[in-house]
Amino acid sequence: MSEKISKSLSIIKLGNPILRQSASLIENIEDKQIQKLIDDLITTVINANGVGIAAPQVAESQRLFIVASRPNPRYPKAPDMEPTAMINPKIIDHSPKIIKDWEGCLSIPGIRGLVPRYKWVTVQYIDRKGKLKHQKLVDFVARIFQHEHDHLDGIVFLDRVESTQELVSEEEYQRLQNNKT
Ligand code: ZN
Repeated sequence: MSEKISKSLSIIKLGNPILRQSASLIENIEDKQIQKLIDDLITTVINANGVGIAAPQVAESQRLFIVASRPNPRYPKAPDMEPTAMINPKIIDHSPKIIKDWEGCLSIPGIRGLVPRYKWVTVQYIDRKGKLKHQKLVDFVARIFQHEHDHLDGIVFLDRVESTQELVSEEEYQRLQNNKT
C-alpha cells in the first residue's frame, strides 16, 4: 500500500572502479531496498534515453539490470517492450552466429562502437517477483542483454570492440545514421 516514489539515480562513468568489479549475487529479492533499486533504475534508464542499465552503473555492485528497449532519440529503431528487471541473469545458450552492430553506454557518454555479439541468446534470470524465467532473446534485445550482462562482470563494450577504428563520436554516429536513411 505504500506510495512508490522512484527517482533518477546518478550514473557513474568509465574510470570509476565499481564499473570494473564483478557484482554480487542477489539473495533476497523481496528486500525493500532491492525493490526500490529496481524502481529507481527503471526511472533512471527512461530519463537517460537508455535501453538498458545495470546496477553497477549506479554504484550498486549487484547482479541486476533493466532491459528497457523502446524507440527514443538515442535509439530510434529500438523495439518497444515493458522495462524488465533481470536478477542473477545467465546466458544458457547462444547462436553460433555473431553480428557486429553499434552500441553506446550511459557510463561512456559521447562514444559509439561496433561490437560483436551473439545473434540470439537463451537466458535465465529471476524476475522482480522472485520467479525463475527462461527466454530466448534475438537481435537488438539479445544485444542489450549481452551488454548489460557484461557490466555485472566488470566488462564494458569498449573491451569488445575489435579495432579502435570502429569507435566513433556520438555526433559522427548520428550523422552516419542520418545519411543511411
Ligand atoms: Zn553500458
